[in-house]
Amino acid sequence: MMELRGLPVANALTEAFKLRINQLKLGGITPKLSVIRIGNNEDDISYERSIIKKFSSLDAVAEVTELPYDVTQETIEAVIKGMNKDNNVHGILLFRPLPEHLSDEKIKSVINADKDVDCMSQTNMARLFSGEKNGYPPCTAQAVMEILDYYKVDLAGKKAVIVGRSLVVGKPLGMLLLEKNATVTICHSKTENLPEECRRADILIACAGCANMITREFTNPSQIVIDVGINVEEGRLCGDVKYDDVANYVQAITPVPGGVGTVTTIELLKHTIISAERYNAVVRI
Ligand code: NAP
Repeated sequence: MMELRGLPVANALTEAFKLRINQLKLGGITPKLSVIRIGNNEDDISYERSIIKKFSSLDAVAEVTELPYDVTQETIEAVIKGMNKDNNVHGILLFRPLPEHLSDEKIKSVINADKDVDCMSQTNMARLFSGEKNGYPPCTAQAVMEILDYYKVDLAGKKAVIVGRSLVVGKPLGMLLLEKNATVTICHSKTENLPEECRRADILIACAGCANMITREFTNPSQIVIDVGINVEEGRLCGDVKYDDVANYVQAITPVPGGVGTVTTIELLKHTIISAERYNAVVRI
């Protein structure tokens, strides 16, 4: 069994980014991500810390705007519009889910698609689904693709089975895999005979948010298993794949923690750099 760890992937990407950030700096541009956090959700705060650490380690900027849980629709829209207009801001990230009194749909339409580095807006989603290359796919879905690419997993003609159909992970991942000529099946909670569907996969991707649900009977010995799930069970972090049951049976597997999650933050940085480079290209015309 080969363990597909996220760290080497993140390190390789980081090296490539240093050069690009330096190039931008020569032109007087520092890639900047504006993060909006509503309330004090511990998971958001922890993700926020890792974003700030990663960005600052590479001389990029991640700045957090903290808003109270009872923030009004008008205020949050005004905050986003301010970031849209600010030429020093290249990426905008809003932690979700939003409090129930806010309209997710409306907020999605306010964010400038060219700064929407985690694919919240309908425009970026449409770009992804229509195969346009000028958008930003959701960072988690892209992190999966980055891992497959780094470990040279051949996707063309291969059967990829995704367990989970959310707009954040499962569906966009389906599009990215199709783009690489995989044959894609997307499963969900109503899928019949899920273990059999999963067993047929050359590449099995679990993004259901169900701790340890993928056991050996869902897998086959030549399979590559990518575990996107981040769950807490009995106080311990675990994925959707029952690692101890599956790891020594399949060809390769990502660990949790230390797999997809390790690459997700670096994708955010990548998109912010690309956005800054696009801005740089425009202002220099
Ligand atoms: P989500 O919105 O809750 O979607 C879960 C999907 O899985 C749904 O489509 C659901 O089907 C399906 N599902 C749930 N239980 C199932 C079951 N028993 N059998 C088959 N399908 C099932 O979750 P999400 O936001 O996509 O996140 C999924 C997981 O990824 C979570 O553990 C989350 O923490 C993790 N995640 C990780 C990262 C990272 O950086 N590694 C980033 C984001 C999310 P229905 O549509 O039929 O309900």
